Amino acid sequence: MRVAILGLSGCDGCQYNLVREEFLSFLRGRGIEVAYWPLVGAEEGSEEYDIALVEGSVISGRDLEVLKSVRARSKVLVALGACAILGGVQAGLGLSKPLGSYVRVDYYLRGCPIEVGEVVDLLDRLSRGLPAGFGERRFDHVERSTKVVEEGILKLDGSKCITCGRCIEVCRRVGAYVLNYFRRGIETEVVTPYAEPFSSAGCILCGLCVAYCPAGAMSYRLDIEEVLQGLGDGSVASAYVEPEAVASLAESEGLTPLQVVAAIKALGFKYVVIYNPLSELGQVSKVVVARSPAEKELLRKHLPEARVELPKPRVPPGAVYVTQCPSWKASGLRAITTKELQLALRRLSYPTLGEEKPDAVLWNRNGSPLRRVGSLEELRKALWEGLHLGIVLEVCPGGCLLGGGQPLTLRVDLREVLRERESKLNELAKLGDLK
Ligand code: SF4
Ligand code: SF4
Ligand code: SF4
Repeated sequence: MRVAILGLSGCDGCQYNLVREEFLSFLRGRGIEVAYWPLVGAEEGSEEYDIALVEGSVISGRDLEVLKSVRARSKVLVALGACAILGGVQAGLGLSKPLGSYVRVDYYLRGCPIEVGEVVDLLDRLSRGLPAGFGERRFDHVERSTKVVEEGILKLDGSKCITCGRCIEVCRRVGAYVLNYFRRGIETEVVTPYAEPFSSAGCILCGLCVAYCPAGAMSYRLDIEEVLQGLGDGSVASAYVEPEAVASLAESEGLTPLQVVAAIKALGFKYVVIYNPLSELGQVSKVVVARSPAEKELLRKHLPEARVELPKPRVPPGAVYVTQCPSWKASGLRAITTKELQLALRRLSYPTLGEEKPDAVLWNRNGSPLRRVGSLEELRKALWEGLHLGIVLEVCPGGCLLGGGQPLTLRVDLREVLRERESKLNELAKLGDLK
């Protein structure tokens, strides 16, 4: 039996993987003649072959010429490795095509590089005249049809989705049930029911799907460039920043809360106010306080009988509200999330930053004591007990410190992130209310 082994455009890794005693002694033992293998100096290539093993993909006219020529002179052609079968990394850039796009391929041996044992098995079977169906390609390439759902500030781009299901899980955790799998098998996609707009599907704009999506398939509108432009032309002068936003930035950037204040000023904000809209609440009694429009919407659907109050941030003209909650971005306020602020801050050089005090701190010092609950279930239980002055609902798992608009962090363990952010929040709380 006469075999040719050759490479088109690629790294030759599959062929190098074959240059080993295990493979060479198999060839010798079977009396298989390697008639053409330029990699090891066997370059007499004008004959006919029983089998050609071809590595690499087709990038140039020369590759195509070689491929067609070897196909014409070989009884069996085997595509060797990922580049030959799928086109390799270069195919992702639109530079190459797999062998099967140009010539008939009889067998496919997968891997990057290939398994030597599989090459030996295939040659062994073919040399003994046995069927060798295991290396055939089992599926044709299937183009997934994907949907884009875009409404208001939120967008789901199905073409980027890897169907990991994290958004589905977290959306259920907040009680919204907006996203789900659609179709089965290789055609599975993640989408709203019947690809409805988010609002009619029950979305509360908590943004958790964006925070948890590893592929950038879920996103919300970013307004940070507009704010930076406003700082440049003087139409924006101050930042009203939620305490949870400062604490989370301090954790994710490895800064103290007062260094975060200095960093925000270094961006061009003249005034920085640490501002919690709960400070707008007076004395409350037997009321459920929604921490944002997200909670208000959730309560409207699930607990319509509850007395709900939503303290609205009082942000003066020329100020931007920095919040952990994307739902405020759709409320008519000029608002950006902590993550957007993080994107801007990362353009600064942190090591040179000192600390600066905020120009004012407006927390919840004068209001009623509030009990915090983290889910609808906890809230129902608390209401059932009936012993409350006011209950504040924060539906994100971990509360606002792990809210949907919070910054990215390098820490992997969310409990550790939460602990660190709580400790930064306590540091900030020591400032007390400053007016
Ligand atoms: S923003 Fe919140 S409610 Fe809306 S789809 Fe995402 S996780 Fe669900
Ligand atoms: S989290 Fe992102 S990648 Fe995962 S299923 Fe949802 S949209 Fe797709
Ligand atoms: S817990 Fe905080 S971040 Fe999450 S939806 Fe509520 S207000 Fe928004």
